[in-house]
Amino acid sequence: MGTATPRWPAGHRAALCVSIDVDGAYGEANYRSPDDIYWLSQALYDPTGTARLLDLLADAGTPATFCWVARAAEDEPDLVRRAVAEGHELALHSWDHRHYAPMGKDGQRQDMERSLATLSRIGGVTPVGHKTPGWRYDADTLAVAQELGLVWVMDEPRGDLPTLLRPDPARGPLVNLPPSRWFDDYTYQVDHMLTPQATFETWREDLEVLRAEGRAMFLTLHPFVSGRPGPSRAIARLLDHAVDMGDVWIARADQIARWWLERDV
Ligand SMILES: [Zn+2]
Repeated sequence: MGTATPRWPAGHRAALCVSIDVDGAYGEANYRSPDDIYWLSQALYDPTGTARLLDLLADAGTPATFCWVARAAEDEPDLVRRAVAEGHELALHSWDHRHYAPMGKDGQRQDMERSLATLSRIGGVTPVGHKTPGWRYDADTLAVAQELGLVWVMDEPRGDLPTLLRPDPARGPLVNLPPSRWFDDYTYQVDHMLTPQATFETWREDLEVLRAEGRAMFLTLHPFVSGRPGPSRAIARLLDHAVDMGDVWIARADQIARWWLERDV
């Protein structure tokens, strides 16, 4: 990497990636008992929230990365196709939102291959990235992603910049895009019922620090959380603020990962 190589393209000072995990009916089912209808029913809002987030992104004129549980994609194929048609990235988020670490390497491979085939068929594009449900990944997850030729993963909070991972040194690297529970709407608007303004202000402070340092922010949103009417204002305001700054690169995960690979040569 030459010292003259800028960290971000086209004079941008920092990068912002909005990733949206479309869990459908399968996310909450992972954390709640089967008779906990109070919680399980909340996920029924996912399609409405997904549509609102797509409207919001269109208003802001910014792209996002949709990490779509494959079974949820089968439930709502028109929304998947709408997201792709509007310029958003489609990425893996497992078949039915089970945690990966207990599955073993073969189980993880089968799950990722099945998800890849399903999203490719519905969306008409080939996903190149993966985020593990609940961030319950292990070393096998990274190895399988590399073996399948994916470009990026978003499981390990290794700082505020992408990093290159080489589980098998003989293969091309994976780009790790660091997520965080501090960048996750679930933390602010489910675990703690903060107002949209408080959520926005926390993320705005994050973004301003990262911009001053020339680093990157990888948000994780959920349609049944950030896609709700009031809570949607947190991400809407953050995107407006980022656009107004004028020098934040608001990009899809695949764009950031490919840029990082390019810089590495
Ligand atoms: Zn999820």
